[in-house]
Amino acid sequence: MEDNIAEKITPQGEMDLEEFRRQGHAIVDWVADYLAHPDDYPVLSRVQPGQVAEQLAPGPPEQSEPLDEILADFREIILPGITHWNHPGFMAYFGISGSGPGILGEWLSAALNVNAMLWRTSPAATELEEVTLDWLRQLLGLPAEFRGIISDTASISSMLALAAAREALDMDIRRRGLAGRPDVPRLRLYVSEQTHSSVEKGAITLGIGQEGVVKIPVDEAFRLDVAALQQAISADQQAGRLPFCVVATVGTTSTTSVDPVAEIAAVCRQHGLWLHVDGAYGGSAAIVPEMRWVLDGVDQADSFVVNPHKWLFTPLDCSAFYVRDPAMLQRAFSLVPDYLQTSETGVTNYMDWGVQLGRRFRALKLWLIMRHFGREGLVARLREHIRLGQLLAEWIDADPDFQRMAPAPFSTVCFRYRPPEEVQTEEEIEQRNEAIVAEVNQSGEIFISPTRLNGRYAIRAAIGNIRTDEEMVRRAWTLIRQAAVRLNG
Ligand code: PLP
Repeated sequence: MEDNIAEKITPQGEMDLEEFRRQGHAIVDWVADYLAHPDDYPVLSRVQPGQVAEQLAPGPPEQSEPLDEILADFREIILPGITHWNHPGFMAYFGISGSGPGILGEWLSAALNVNAMLWRTSPAATELEEVTLDWLRQLLGLPAEFRGIISDTASISSMLALAAAREALDMDIRRRGLAGRPDVPRLRLYVSEQTHSSVEKGAITLGIGQEGVVKIPVDEAFRLDVAALQQAISADQQAGRLPFCVVATVGTTSTTSVDPVAEIAAVCRQHGLWLHVDGAYGGSAAIVPEMRWVLDGVDQADSFVVNPHKWLFTPLDCSAFYVRDPAMLQRAFSLVPDYLQTSETGVTNYMDWGVQLGRRFRALKLWLIMRHFGREGLVARLREHIRLGQLLAEWIDADPDFQRMAPAPFSTVCFRYRPPEEVQTEEEIEQRNEAIVAEVNQSGEIFISPTRLNGRYAIRAAIGNIRTDEEMVRRAWTLIRQAAVRLNG
């Protein structure tokens, strides 16, 4: 047994590299087959709670185990517990894509395993991050002065934005904190009722408190109501509270509504408030010339986030965060102990731009994606998703048994089954729609998720996966209609 182990490692203890090569080739083959047919698997995992864990050993192995055995367990135990986000029928949440070039980029960055915390800890990682984010800025038509940093998620990007906004108040909060300070009024952050919950979590983290987050009502198209924003700001000012930031969204999570950013920017300018724009999903659409309008007004924002890991074919995780004035981020976060001092000047040390020290080399996959697809390729793919979303919306609009619940500016459609007249109560309508979603999701062919709009249940189909085509969308619509007929007679 010991001889066997000795054969499988290098003298220093690393895995035997010929074995690595053999297994690596086999894994590449497996991944290529998987990406060709993720629809061989049910999109939504069918395991029961606890079923995966109970098949795994209760403790770590004492001795080395052969990779063939470990990979066999991957196939038999792990794979059945996977919900396949790569599946063309994945239309729940916001569909994401592990695209070929993105996966290759992930493999390379895993192999290099560099930490992009300081310029010196991998100059290429820092400089590629700066360059790829500038390319993305150009693709989106953002102002030249916007500078970017990649974070793991939009949740963190928006939290960084709130921290910079708080720092811009010039109230020494970084040093003295917020608690026990009679000289600092209660801070107020304005979002809409449709803003993603991550922004509120950022406010919780930064000591703004949930009470400090003012949720402004939306109009009939789920866009932030600017007059209500003005009123809320005035009311807070009169009550001695301190407005400091507004978050507008381009592509809200439930309906993908687009807030009137330019009008909100004017309000922010009038009151000296920081404007952060959350374009986590919808921002990518601006790469398509006829969709450029979605970022109207963002040129006046102080910060902006878009997630390539949502609708730009980049494997999780990759969130692009832009600020007009990186100095404010650095004022909020730079803290350099002796052991992290470096002598280079004129370089970016990304650890100064946020909370985390260790940073993955995420720019590599984004660079591969932008180069492999090119602007034209990205435009064509995004445009096709939008076409498919609009097609689905048309089918729904044309079917008297269904009703649309919101406008669909991108490729996400909110709708629901309209039961016969005798079904009146909201509760019963909800039950009928819930049953449709459950039945369709059990099919293994598509996965859709619900939301709630003005208190009413809505089904949400989000098209954004690189493998989703018209046939798949047609199939999804057929399954939904069939389930409605079967369950409702
Ligand atoms: N903002 C919007 C508009 C979103 O839709 C989402 C997630 O769907 C987020 C932020 C949070 O994104 P992340 O998972 O990258 O934190």
